[in-house]
Amino acid sequence: MDFIPVNEPLLDGNEKKYLCECIDTGWISSEGPFVKEFEQQMCITAGRKYGIAVSNGTAALEVAVQALGIGEGDEVIMPTFTIISCAMAVTKTGAIPVLVDSDLYTWNMKADEIEKKITSKTRAIMIVHIYGLPVEVDKILALAKKYNLQVIEDAAEMHGQTYNGKPCGSFGDISTFSFYPNKHITTGEGGMVVTDDEELAERCRMLRNLCFKKDIRYVHDELSDNYRFTNLQAAVGLAQLERLEEFVEKKRWMGRYYSEKLRDIEGIILPMEKEDYADNIYWVYGIVLDKDIRADNRTVQQLLTQEGIGSRTFFWCMHEQPVYQKRGLFVNESYPNAEYLARKGFYIPSGLALTKEQMDKVIIKVDKVIQRVRE
Ligand SMILES: *Cc1c(COP(=O)(O)O)cnc(C)c1O
Repeated sequence: MDFIPVNEPLLDGNEKKYLCECIDTGWISSEGPFVKEFEQQMCITAGRKYGIAVSNGTAALEVAVQALGIGEGDEVIMPTFTIISCAMAVTKTGAIPVLVDSDLYTWNMKADEIEKKITSKTRAIMIVHIYGLPVEVDKILALAKKYNLQVIEDAAEMHGQTYNGKPCGSFGDISTFSFYPNKHITTGEGGMVVTDDEELAERCRMLRNLCFKKDIRYVHDELSDNYRFTNLQAAVGLAQLERLEEFVEKKRWMGRYYSEKLRDIEGIILPMEKEDYADNIYWVYGIVLDKDIRADNRTVQQLLTQEGIGSRTFFWCMHEQPVYQKRGLFVNESYPNAEYLARKGFYIPSGLALTKEQMDKVIIKVDKVIQRVRE
């Protein structure tokens, strides 16, 4: 039986050609010319002035948070329903994540619940666009202005998405992207920080590279890490970016096709097609079991695996992470919507290499599995 994986990237453009150029010219390290070119191209896509390519999306968040000078004694407001990278970037500096619940249908942080979380220690708000629809950016930017807070935008899942016509990745002080193979644009592993602030960009470049100083090499005032991005990664990234529009169109088509075919299955909630400010880009095609189904997402995932269909459960909430509980963080905190999504949400194959025939098979199997758990 052919197993349909949850994600397969599409690499049939100029990837090979540009990679061969790296080999032929000997430029394989982070000093190669494709890195700058990729940074420039990403800036154009994201509507930003400066781009700093780094080793992955998690590194991009770490560099962004450090560049803003966030540290011990600071609080950063963020969704509890997200990937650990977001919280980790904050806790690594000694700062504390302050969590907010999510909307049951957009899966994004509830903008209206942010204000009551602001204290005298709040330094920043981290926006994370989840699975395909952007966060209510305007409300958050207005709050940030009112309380003089910095804004970090995690746009890892939003290549090519817009909010009210403006590109995701262009909001707040600093934004980050990931190029992991399941993102719209991949470089195998990779990430980028983008900003309009020249000084912040300069700090990011320094943080990316062991905090080397510009004038005297091997003398360090600060510590960071080696977060460099190679010319080989940039070669793949450039080839991918050439096709961003096509990729976004394909993802949107896939999302609509799934929705059309899955609409009549009872017991599941499908992704929202759009909000006033954006059409869903369906980074992944998520499904949430409704209240009448007693089974959880893990059971469904197991059954789908038996049927030859790859899937993933939704994120596990930050306030329920054993590692943070052990440190005494988020004890007795509860965010009911996020907890529900973490237990009842999963996503089905939605990679760019997926064919219509494979999607038709996925649809039949999802129907079968949901019928089984409804019994
Ligand atoms: C994928 C992802 C990341 C992490 O990116 P990596 O490249 O895997 O480190 C961060 N934030 C969000 C929202 C993501 O989806």
